[in-house]
Amino acid sequence: MALATLKQVLEMASATLTAVPMFNIDNIEIPDAVVPVAEKYDCPLIFGVGQGAIKAGKLYYLRDVVYRIADQTSLPIVLHLDHGASLEQAVECMDAGFTSVMYDGSHGPFEENIAVSKKVVEYAHARGISVEAELGAIGGVEDGVSSDRKNLVDVEEVKEFISRVEVDALAIGIGNAHGLYKAAPNLDFDRLRQCQALNPPPLVLHGGSGIPKDMIQKAIELGIRKINVATELRNAFMEGLEKSVHKRDIYAMYQAGAIEAAALAETKIRMFKRLDEI
Ligand SMILES: [Zn+2]
Repeated sequence: MALATLKQVLEMASATLTAVPMFNIDNIEIPDAVVPVAEKYDCPLIFGVGQGAIKAGKLYYLRDVVYRIADQTSLPIVLHLDHGASLEQAVECMDAGFTSVMYDGSHGPFEENIAVSKKVVEYAHARGISVEAELGAIGGVEDGVSSDRKNLVDVEEVKEFISRVEVDALAIGIGNAHGLYKAAPNLDFDRLRQCQALNPPPLVLHGGSGIPKDMIQKAIELGIRKINVATELRNAFMEGLEKSVHKRDIYAMYQAGAIEAAALAETKIRMFKRLDEI
């Protein structure tokens, strides 16, 4: 089946008041393990290719993996660039067949974020591709780049940004961080409410690893429609590898990793679909 765009799956999430998971992918095995679980729940999937994967030279390999997987399922699958670093990188991914790109200009000046995001949107929308932008730099470790900047989005900036740039999704910092949390995260729901009151495009929560279920479900209730999960999924896969390394059989290890990754994905999908509401 042809790939879906981010805009399409976020519309589905808005209609059902759920959030779509974005799982970062770094190999064949993780997306392959996640799809059967998503099929069980009829859950659209966003596969994110991040900066670590691109630095490792995997952009085109992972593109091919996602296209092949999408051919074998009837689920809507989005191929998404995570934390696009520049206009040039976003364009390279769009030319390579990505159906969605994130441009993350949140670490630079606000006006520059607007200017580059606009250019990305212009290129993308002419080709039917979706764009996610970011405001309020999300802290923590982002593919090896750590940031200790305060990450609470400025609501006035959200208002101005969405009046000037027509993005399909907007990532906002509300106390979330990448990687695993050292202490329990404290999401600023008032700020999320204020952003949602501006009638923004679907909002995105990065750093979904380790946020407790009650907070995730409250965030979804208040308008979060895409939640990114990278660290927990990678860790689950690696735990499977570790547990089975004594077998000295690479496919047995992959299988053990896939079982752990699938279990983690199932937990997240159930949480994001609010199936076991608390
Ligand atoms: Zn992120």
